[in-house]
Amino acid sequence: MRLTRYFLPVLKENPADAQIVSHRYMLRAGMIKQQAAGIYSWLPLGYKVLKRIEQIVHEEQVRAGHIPLLMPTLQPADLWRESGRYDDYGQEMLRIKDRQGREMLYGPTNEEMITDIFRSHVGSYKDLPLTLYHIQWKFRDEVRPRFGVMRGREFLMKDGYNFDLTKEDALHAYNRHLVSYLRTYERMGLQAIPMRADSGPIGGDDTHEFLVLAETGESEVFYDGNVTDIKLGAREIDYDNKAECAAVMEEFTSLYARTDETHDAALFEAVPEERRRSARGIEVGQIFYFGTKYSEAMGATVVTPDGGRVPVHMGSHGIGVSRLLGAIIEASHDDKGIIWPEGVTPFHCGIVNLKQGDEGTNAACESIYKALQKAGLDPLYDDRDERAGAKFATMDLIGLPWRITVGPRGLKNGVVELTSRRTGESEEMTAEAAVERVK
Ligand code: ATP
Ligand code: MG
Ligand code: MG
Ligand code: MG
Repeated sequence: MRLTRYFLPVLKENPADAQIVSHRYMLRAGMIKQQAAGIYSWLPLGYKVLKRIEQIVHEEQVRAGHIPLLMPTLQPADLWRESGRYDDYGQEMLRIKDRQGREMLYGPTNEEMITDIFRSHVGSYKDLPLTLYHIQWKFRDEVRPRFGVMRGREFLMKDGYNFDLTKEDALHAYNRHLVSYLRTYERMGLQAIPMRADSGPIGGDDTHEFLVLAETGESEVFYDGNVTDIKLGAREIDYDNKAECAAVMEEFTSLYARTDETHDAALFEAVPEERRRSARGIEVGQIFYFGTKYSEAMGATVVTPDGGRVPVHMGSHGIGVSRLLGAIIEASHDDKGIIWPEGVTPFHCGIVNLKQGDEGTNAACESIYKALQKAGLDPLYDDRDERAGAKFATMDLIGLPWRITVGPRGLKNGVVELTSRRTGESEEMTAEAAVERVK
């Protein structure tokens, strides 16, 4: 993409209403525009990152054997009357009447609807196990929408639902989700720690939240400092292997790590004092096992091998896709702007032309631009007629991992400059070498 043809409405001033760094940088980098409290347009740069995050979430769900579908944003109230949650959900639910006077709602989550799909089409244990998921917009009329996309009212969530014959199988699905979530966050350059949590209005006993440690996080967390040393890394996990998934669950959840809702001071005391940590965290996902709560209420049953009929065991599992943009920026930035991890960056590399209009410099930039595209990368070429300082400031703000700076002086010696956004280190090398390095 050439910057002169792109739509990147960068703001020079710090927006007054943005209290935390991720919100500030998302506005300044022209990623989002607020349309109403907690409701945002995703401008091209923000939309690009959102799509990359969504793609990683999809890939890791499919890898775990989970099946994508798409449910609508609007739901009939009657489904929620069946589970009893229409009245329970309270003011967070946005209720709407259509022209016939039928009561509808903008879905805050989809347990009821997925259970309805299941009961309409599945009737035998032979069709289990089954895990369906979608990535769809949700609406929750939050009391205090704030921090930009971190706590929006309309937000993008991945929500998955498992259907299993037995509790044991459903717990395997729970473990599978834990593993796939860990992989998902790590691919985004994030450490999200699973912590024992409270199940809230979803219901159920078993639940873990995934928290990214950050001072601006809304949750208070308590944990054993050693949990931050555990990484999934490149290991291959067989998602069908119950013992293997259970071992990962055990590894990641046996040390003390809880949110304030389930924090137990006495248990925490058992952690050696020098390892006891309390901090703030951002909830980027949550997994639940809630057994037959919805299947019983809504008649989602299957025929068993011996001809009986039982309600299925279920769980639901969410990732805050749009919130992740904020969480990643909170975890990865400096005072000049965002520092995107490679896995989610909107463009792989920036090209800065130091002397727009100079024939040789233009030609060198063009050839680097084309070489990067040919290598399958997505470069952003700053071809504006601007001062070098302004170009560098924009590149630093939008946080691309690499910048190739091209100017007449370097070209005279046959070199360009390659700069890493993360380390800030620059190196001179030939244009070909720079392209190779970025690949
Ligand atoms: P919170 O405690 O932050 O209100 P939640 O526990 O109500 O979140 P869940 O029902 O667990 O949310 O939804 C799954 C995920 O969706 C959360 O882990 C979070 O990452 C994301 N999420 C929830 N509410 C919002 C929101 N208002 N804006 C953006 N993302 C959200
Ligand atoms: Mg909430
Ligand atoms: Mg929560
Ligand atoms: Mg939650």
